[in-house]
Amino acid sequence: MIILNTKQDYKNHINLLKSKGEIIGFVPTMGNLHDGHLSLIEIAKKNSSKIIVSIFVNPLQFGKNDDFNKYPRTFNRDVSKLKDLNCDILFAPNDTYEVFDEIDNLKYLKAGPKGNILCGKLRPGHFDGVLKVVYTLFKLTEPDVSIFGLKDFQQLYLVKKMARKYFPNIDIISAPTIRAKNGLALSSRNSYLDKTSIKIAPLFYKILLEGINNLKHSTSIEQTTNKIINSLEKNKFLVNYVSLLTIDLEKLNPNSSDKKILLSSVNLGGTRLIDNIEFS
Ligand code: AMP
Repeated sequence: MIILNTKQDYKNHINLLKSKGEIIGFVPTMGNLHDGHLSLIEIAKKNSSKIIVSIFVNPLQFGKNDDFNKYPRTFNRDVSKLKDLNCDILFAPNDTYEVFDEIDNLKYLKAGPKGNILCGKLRPGHFDGVLKVVYTLFKLTEPDVSIFGLKDFQQLYLVKKMARKYFPNIDIISAPTIRAKNGLALSSRNSYLDKTSIKIAPLFYKILLEGINNLKHSTSIEQTTNKIINSLEKNKFLVNYVSLLTIDLEKLNPNSSDKKILLSSVNLGGTRLIDNIEFS
């Protein structure tokens, strides 16, 4: 695996791959790689001839009170995992300017109204920051396919929308959420959970699943979300939101046959967890 730290070296290697007609699969990450990230790479392998992974903790997507400084950075461990998976290139910019030297030119790139609901309401500007980094990495990489996790459903939705507009030739593939055996969605932030919270955390997914079952016996969205919120709060979760929407993140008509999604964010012992479940 080739590790590249500067934009120039990266661009040169991309040009080389393109000149050889390689199909480029790209998986952007913030590192601290777990099986969720690795599943994205496995999907990329099935859809391309060369795999590129990026590791960049993007400051633009962290708010003032967010965890940018303490975000888990495990570079050496990440590199050995990527080598084991036979990745071809790791782009690990050694400086923010290697990614964002033209940041002023990205002012127009906004996530819009659907970037201001759910997690975007909790973290103003977060999705603008996400789109800026994905846009810049797409410009540099020009991949044929790029893989994103359904765990971050709102992010995936907004990235797809941005890609349709600016990068219509990139095939964005949605990857299923990888969970621990106890149901907890894998996330780099799970490493913040203390001993007590680790035991409680799996209830998050279980309570969301119960909520969906409850919807089968009730047509009231409000009743269902309130029931989920009560159950989460009883188990020491601080609820940021519980929302039942269409998969286009629109208001849901409970009687419609549209695909639906239950999305939630909670805080547990100071750690933010997110999860979602799609259902019909
Ligand atoms: P991150 O490093 O958190 O920015 O995540 C990089 C990519 O991995 C994003 O597309 C995430 O949606 C995806 N991802 C994170 N956790 C999981 C998971 N448990 N299952 C599947 N994909 C995931």
